[in-house]
Amino acid sequence: MSATHPGAELVQQRRLVTELPGPRSRELSARREAAVCAGVKVALPVFIAAAGGGVLLDVDGNCLIDLGSGIAVTSVGNAAPAVVAAVHAQAEQFTHTCFMVTPYEPYLAVCEELATLTPGGHEKRSALFNSGAEAVENAVKVARHATGRPAVVVFDHAYHGRTNLTMALTAAVMPYKHRFGPFAPEIYRVPLSYPFRDPPGLSGQQAAARALSLIEAQVGAEHLACVVIEPIQGEGGVIVPAPGFLPAIAQWCTEHGVLFVADEVQTGFCRTGDWFACEHEALIPDLVITGKGIAGGLPLAGVTGRAHLMDAVHAGGLGGTYGGNPLACAAALASIASMREHDLAGAARRIEAIAIPLLTALAARCPAVGQVRGRGAMLALELIDPATGAPNPALATQVIRACHRAGVVVLSSGTDANVIRLLPPLVIPPELLTEGLDVLTHAVLTAAAPE
Ligand SMILES: *Cc1c(COP(=O)(O)O)cnc(C)c1O
Repeated sequence: MSATHPGAELVQQRRLVTELPGPRSRELSARREAAVCAGVKVALPVFIAAAGGGVLLDVDGNCLIDLGSGIAVTSVGNAAPAVVAAVHAQAEQFTHTCFMVTPYEPYLAVCEELATLTPGGHEKRSALFNSGAEAVENAVKVARHATGRPAVVVFDHAYHGRTNLTMALTAAVMPYKHRFGPFAPEIYRVPLSYPFRDPPGLSGQQAAARALSLIEAQVGAEHLACVVIEPIQGEGGVIVPAPGFLPAIAQWCTEHGVLFVADEVQTGFCRTGDWFACEHEALIPDLVITGKGIAGGLPLAGVTGRAHLMDAVHAGGLGGTYGGNPLACAAALASIASMREHDLAGAARRIEAIAIPLLTALAARCPAVGQVRGRGAMLALELIDPATGAPNPALATQVIRACHRAGVVVLSSGTDANVIRLLPPLVIPPELLTEGLDVLTHAVLTAAAPE
C-alpha cells in the first residue's frame, strides 16, 4: 500500500482488498487483546489508518463506508482539512495553559458561539469540559446549586454517560451499569414517549402527563432540580418522542421552577437538521449540554445556560485541568465555521431525504423492520420478530455483522440492542450514502429471509 497522507484525498469509494478484518488488523487485534482490557469492547475490529469524507481506510488498504461518524462525532468529516489546519496552527502556538490558570481566547470564542447557536435569545454563560459525561455531571451540579434542590428526573432508555452520576442517569443496566454500583442517589426515572412501543394513539401530551403525574406523586416538584432529557435518544435506540411531549415537559418545568436540561450531546451541531434538536419544537432549554459533533473529533463538551443559573455557582466551583483545551477549542471553531459555511444542517436534511424513502421501501418489503425513524442524519431501523412484535436483537446483530463484513460501518443501539443506528458524516457524498444503504438493505433482506 502506498503511503497515504492521513485523511487527505481519500477516494470516496468502498473498496475491499482483503476479507474484513484483514491480516494486519488481525495482528493488531491480537496485540489489543494482550494490552487493552476486555471491558473496552470493539464493534468492528478493523484498525483504521486514515479517514475522510464518508470513508475509513484500514491498515490493510480496505476502504469502508462510514455510517457512524465515530458515534456522531465527525459530522464535518474526519480529519476535515479546516479542522486539521486550525489544530495545527493552535498546536504551534501553545497546547495547554489550563483556562483556570491563565486563560486564552479560543475558549471564549467557543462560549460565544454556544451562546449564539443554542436556542433562545436570553443572556447565556457556558463552561467547557472534555466529554459528554463530564458536561452532564456539571449540568446537574449547576441545576442543584442554582435551585437548591437535590432530585434529578431522567427517562426510560436514557443514555447520559459512564461516570458514576451519569451511570445513575443512564437507563440500561447492560452493558453500562452491571456490577458498577452503588449509584448516585436522588435520581428518578419516568416513562418516555416511545411511539413504537406506547399504547396506540397515545399522544405526546398524554405521554407527558403520564410522566409528570409520576414525578408529582413520587418526587415532588419542590425537591426537583432538573429534568434531563435527550430530545431524540441516541444509544437508547433513536427514539423520537411524539410531537407535543417535549414542550409539555418543558412547560411543566417552567411552571414549577424545575430546570429543563437538554442533553444534545448526540443530537446537537446539525445532526438532526437544525443546529439543535430542540429547535424542531421551538423548545428553549434552561441548560443545553453539547459534546460529540462540536469539535470534529477532538474531545470537547459544554454546558450552556441562562446566565443567572450558570453564574449562581461560586467562583472555583466548576472547571477541570483540560476542560476547553485550546486544541479542542480551535477544532470546534473550525467545525462550527464549516457547518455554517457548508450548511451542514441542510446536508443532514438531505441525508434524511435520501435515506428515509430507501429505508421505508425496505420496511414495506420486510416485516422484521418494525419501524424506520429518526430525523436528519440520525436515523434507525427497529428490528422485531414479526410474529410477536418483540425486539429482535439476534437479527440486528446478524445484519450489523453482514454490513461490517461488506465494509459498511453501522451502529447498534436500543435497550434491547435491536435498533440499527445510522449517523453518517454530514459531508458524506450522496452516492456513498446510497451504496451504504443498499448494502444495509441487502443485509436485512438476507438475514430476515425465511429459511
Ligand atoms: C455520548 C453521549 C453522552 C456521553 O458523552 P461522552 O463524551 O461519551 O462522555 C452523553 N449524552 C448523550 C446523549 C450521548 O449520546
